[in-house]
Amino acid sequence: QQQLLLQQEKLASLGQLAAGIAHEIRNPLTPVQITLQMVKEGHSSQEMLDLALSELNRANHLITTMLTLAKPEQSKRDEEWIDMAEFAARLEFLLDAECYKRVTKWELIVPNEMPPFYCSNDMLVQIIYNLFKNAVEAVDSKGADGSVTVTILFTERDYRFLIEDNGVGMTKAQVQAVGSAFYTTKDNGNGLGLYMIREYLKAVNGRMEIESVEGEGTAMMIKIPRRSDV
Ligand code: ADP
Ligand code: MG
Repeated sequence: QQQLLLQQEKLASLGQLAAGIAHEIRNPLTPVQITLQMVKEGHSSQEMLDLALSELNRANHLITTMLTLAKPEQSKRDEEWIDMAEFAARLEFLLDAECYKRVTKWELIVPNEMPPFYCSNDMLVQIIYNLFKNAVEAVDSKGADGSVTVTILFTERDYRFLIEDNGVGMTKAQVQAVGSAFYTTKDNGNGLGLYMIREYLKAVNGRMEIESVEGEGTAMMIKIPRRSDV
């Protein structure tokens, strides 16, 4: 009896997880669909095709991420040395596309010189993209003159990614709750973004620090250790 109940609970949460994942995968599919439609009608640009491709990659990577979550011991498999200037350029393009048609002002601040970083490239994009999206959404639901700043920093010990917004902010209770699977305050949210980040950070001994003031804004800081053998 007990066993059966436990199994039913597991199945129910699996169903929830599947719904959340399906939703996340559908998000990047929309720009791909629009781009293909435009190509069909003879209007398209290199930029749109690039975006569609990068969005498809994102969906693909999301699936990888979910598999990674299912098998945490394999999550470090696709780590590599990343050229951080190249990374920043890729990031800028993606974040810019995310703000298309939105009122949000945003800025990416990077140091002039950045040492290479041993990390999963796609995972890093995924993390910053998720935090950025949350920041844009926090700003959007507050009103017009919002802004989001993404800053890349490094120390001897780690790389740091700081995402700041002047959006709706969070209560202390919310700050405690974020990162639990399915915790969301949004109508169309899934509450998997920060959960995924937390799980990944566990695998790489990274950290996420949150500072937030309700009604004023939020700063999310990600710290990921650098490999010492540079
Ligand atoms: P989702 O975005 O689907 O809701 P996330 O895991 O990305 O899931 O975020 C969980 C919750 O954390 C959000 O619903 C929101 O309540 C809160 N949150 C995250 N980032 C911010 C932010 N920058 N400002 C305000 N609230 C945030
Ligand atoms: Mg989110």
